[in-house]
Amino acid sequence: MAVVEATDVTFSYGDRPVVEDVSLAIEEGAFLGLVGPNGSGKTTLLELLIGLRRPDSGSVTLFGHPAHESRDGHRIGFVPQDVATANGRMPTTVREAVRMGRYPRNLVGRFTGADRRAVDDALARVGIAALADRRVGRLSGGQRQRVFIARALAAEADLLALDEPTVGVDAESREGFYDLLHELNDEGITVVLIEHDIGVVTTHASEIACLNRELFFHGDPETFVETDALAEAYGGAQSIVHHQH
Ligand code: ADP
Repeated sequence: MAVVEATDVTFSYGDRPVVEDVSLAIEEGAFLGLVGPNGSGKTTLLELLIGLRRPDSGSVTLFGHPAHESRDGHRIGFVPQDVATANGRMPTTVREAVRMGRYPRNLVGRFTGADRRAVDDALARVGIAALADRRVGRLSGGQRQRVFIARALAAEADLLALDEPTVGVDAESREGFYDLLHELNDEGITVVLIEHDIGVVTTHASEIACLNRELFFHGDPETFVETDALAEAYGGAQSIVHHQH
């Protein structure tokens, strides 16, 4: 089953198209790396895929419903681009921020033992249990990303969408971060992430989508490396879509 399905999606800022005629299905359990040069529309496409923006034409379904009308926000863990680098002054503690993930599931309005356990488990899972009482605004970029992931785990999210999550994160933490993503993906969470480092993403993702306004490639990393989709997308040559399916 496709978690997200984009069909002929086009989107412009004003009269400037930044995503054009993109069709892309993300199957349940996929680990998709979205690559492309700066300004190629990756963030915009990711926002379209999770319903933060509405296509000018074409359609996106998210968990089987039109994405922009989706009420399944709690099923998505979104780690936006500036989480790591923003000069965050969030006064909430880590535990409070992660607990927010429970709200959509907490219809009685009072936290139960199960909620507390879910929060504790999520904190432990991403390795920030010791930081539970620290303020989010005092954390390093890498730690802050883990808060967002923990919140998604507490919410029992089915889809993680991450926009360049390792920008500003040192190489060792980055590897640890990818290990965590792999573990979560192995457990069935669908992952889609924008990553500027092609070497890193082709090592870790199970499929690659390469964008430069149009979709130049969607398929497995081995084929991506062998085709000239990368050079075409980054060189701005006429697009030839390499679809593997
Ligand atoms: P990428 O993530 O690949 O760098 P983006 O989706 O962020 O690409 O941006 C695609 C293009 O759209 C860029 O040229 C960018 O400057 C422009 N853009 C992004 N966001 C906005 C916005 N809110 N308003 C107008 N233009 C935008």
